[in-house]
Amino acid sequence: MPVFDVIFRDALIYDGTGAPPRRDSLAITGERIAAVGSVFPNEAREVVEAGHLALSPGFIDAHTHDDRIVLDAPEMLPKISQGVTTVITGNCGISLAPAVFDDDPPPPMNLLGGAEAYAFPDFATYAAALRSAAPAVNVAALIGHSALRLATMTDIRRKANEGEINRMQSMAAEAMASGAAGFSTGLFYPTNAAADRAEVAAIARCFAAAGGVYATHMRDEFAGVLDSIEESVATSADAGIRLVISHHKCAGLANWGRTTETLPRLEDAARRQPVNLDVYPYAAGSTNLRQDLVTPDYPIRISWSKSHPEMTGRMLDDIAAEWSCSLHEAAARLDPAGAIYFQMHEDDVRRVMCSPIAMIGSDGLPHDAHPHPRLWGTFPRVLGHYARDLALFSMEEAIHKMTGLPAHVFGLKGRGSLAPGNYADLVLFDPGAVIDRATYDSPRLMAEGVSRVYVNGALTFREGGGVARRAGRLTGGNNI
Ligand SMILES: [Zn+2]
Repeated sequence: MPVFDVIFRDALIYDGTGAPPRRDSLAITGERIAAVGSVFPNEAREVVEAGHLALSPGFIDAHTHDDRIVLDAPEMLPKISQGVTTVITGNCGISLAPAVFDDDPPPPMNLLGGAEAYAFPDFATYAAALRSAAPAVNVAALIGHSALRLATMTDIRRKANEGEINRMQSMAAEAMASGAAGFSTGLFYPTNAAADRAEVAAIARCFAAAGGVYATHMRDEFAGVLDSIEESVATSADAGIRLVISHHKCAGLANWGRTTETLPRLEDAARRQPVNLDVYPYAAGSTNLRQDLVTPDYPIRISWSKSHPEMTGRMLDDIAAEWSCSLHEAAARLDPAGAIYFQMHEDDVRRVMCSPIAMIGSDGLPHDAHPHPRLWGTFPRVLGHYARDLALFSMEEAIHKMTGLPAHVFGLKGRGSLAPGNYADLVLFDPGAVIDRATYDSPRLMAEGVSRVYVNGALTFREGGGVARRAGRLTGGNNI
């Protein structure tokens, strides 16, 4: 009988800790890593000669809106093809549970779909659907504050009263007991904006008590970004919860360059309490098309439109010219819609990625008709473009930001590093060739250079061969 299921022989091993690579072999048995080292018996069902390929822990997408696609398209091709083996869902206050709707959900909840998508009155129901869908990737699920508010409040334009907070706290406790990983807010969004610090802290405290983390799309990423950082740090300290600043950026021309102010603040706070951030490797953001984000200052591309689907993928200024109207009038006619905003400076994006507290998160929007290329390209772009080609940081640092660091921050037990006993979430890739191909014009091009991806020991993706098996499960929080 073979001792191991698979041996990867003489691979360039990046173990996820940030340590320099070394040439070693790694063996897996069942769903776990059985051995890592230079000498062990070559008895296995399969021996993979790694040659020039690198082996690392599966990538953890620290920021996603994959709540629904893990159910509807469980092959998860946009992510697994990048080497992603775990996604953190439920970000920006938006989660599929525990809200249900009779009519079209309000923005930003409509980024996940229409009323038919929201079929989960509690997290246990969502977790059961996830188990039966059996996605290709593991899922660590955050519960969105907007979902909680819409599930408990009749008027979300005000802050929650005591009774409503009590009901949100019960929902938080149910979610954590049923396998959720924490809490998120999107204080920038109308469904969440009326919540004050006391409301956020009261609910976050409940998640903290059950071992959850707190991620926030802050109230303001423009002129008020420093105040918003202060608010996020104070609220999480008050609640005693680990903080993640979502997709950190300084948006809008007037704020370009200000990451030289925000990053020292965040890194200073991180010396006193647990603070991290996530970042995607692009200078454009994407969300609903909003009047307050429409400006001639930066280009805007339409990612979807319900009223004018034929305008999908086109630039807003072209559409306005064709319609002989203002940008704001064109935006009003396209509504409800989504957009890609070229609102950041590349120097800021690079500075944020370099921060030692930064994790990589795609923030991809899988249901958009013409999505931001981050959905298909984030991880190979960080490895190939930023680490290898631009030498912004070393390959081992890049990999740590997408493996060991997020596994620690989100409490993903047994994941994020290559050590015996850990889950065999693995990526075999070509460090000389790995690169994103998705662009703003062609956003669905699959990345190159990701050879094989294993999830919980199962060979899930092969380059050129698609998705073979699906072995993902709930992780984070109280999941083992
Ligand atoms: Zn967000």
